[in-house]
Amino acid sequence: MKVGPYEAKSILTGSFALDGGAMFGTVPKVLWNKTNPSDELNRIDMEARALLLISDKHKILVDVGLGDKLSEKYGEKFGQKFKEMYKWDQSKNTLTNSLKKHSLMLEDITDVILTHLHFDHAGGATTVENGELVPTFKNAKYYVQKKNLETAQNPNLREKASYFKENFEPLLENKVLNLLEGDVKNLLPQVSVFVTNGHTQAQQLVKIGEQNPLIYCGDIIPTSTHVRLPFVMGYDLDPLLVIKEKQQILEGIASENGFVFFEHDPYMDAAKIVKVGSDFNVSEKVMLN
Ligand SMILES: [Zn+2]
Repeated sequence: MKVGPYEAKSILTGSFALDGGAMFGTVPKVLWNKTNPSDELNRIDMEARALLLISDKHKILVDVGLGDKLSEKYGEKFGQKFKEMYKWDQSKNTLTNSLKKHSLMLEDITDVILTHLHFDHAGGATTVENGELVPTFKNAKYYVQKKNLETAQNPNLREKASYFKENFEPLLENKVLNLLEGDVKNLLPQVSVFVTNGHTQAQQLVKIGEQNPLIYCGDIIPTSTHVRLPFVMGYDLDPLLVIKEKQQILEGIASENGFVFFEHDPYMDAAKIVKVGSDFNVSEKVMLN
């Protein structure tokens, strides 16, 4: 799919699973279980889907999945635990393999926009090389909101299990992390970021293109089931604010005839949106192969 000057591609980095109740907050299981059936431990399937934007000048990634720090001393923390707790499974796809399908290597990536530093979004930002933690993308500039980094460095009790310093400290040490303060229009050509605060402090979402734009919705609209306004995650710090932020995004995208990109949906990459009364729904499923 062409968006602005870019060819937009979905990059699968691996699948995982999270508790269905936590993913849908106050929504009863009888409703969400129809679209997102759970396993015997009440976990639902999720994807860790990055977005790749290709132009002559730029090869941009938005978010990078859980990563691959499975070796040596990080294995216990990020390997076994991830496999058991989150069913983290890279048997079908890894970030490296998915990039290869588009004839790209890790070194070719010029920019990495991190929506926020939760492990399922930023884990792939660093990797282990000769026992040392280093940035995964050697030639890339990384971008995150300064306020989100500060939250990650001093996480509250609720988010402590989602922010790990191994995922961002090596970026700071290697001076590749650019800290943004607030919305930035055209951070890169026709790529703008805007800040949301409902899910966590200073999660930046990414809007690409001017006509029929595509919005990378991160954890504000993680799956297509979350397009419905009351379907809000139990993880969110401020559910009412998430609903407000979602409403604004969906209102905009429906009127601009654009697309929303779902980072965690196990079944679809993106969708067109239609307004239904005071709520919203998916009108057309879109795959970005
Ligand atoms: Zn998150």
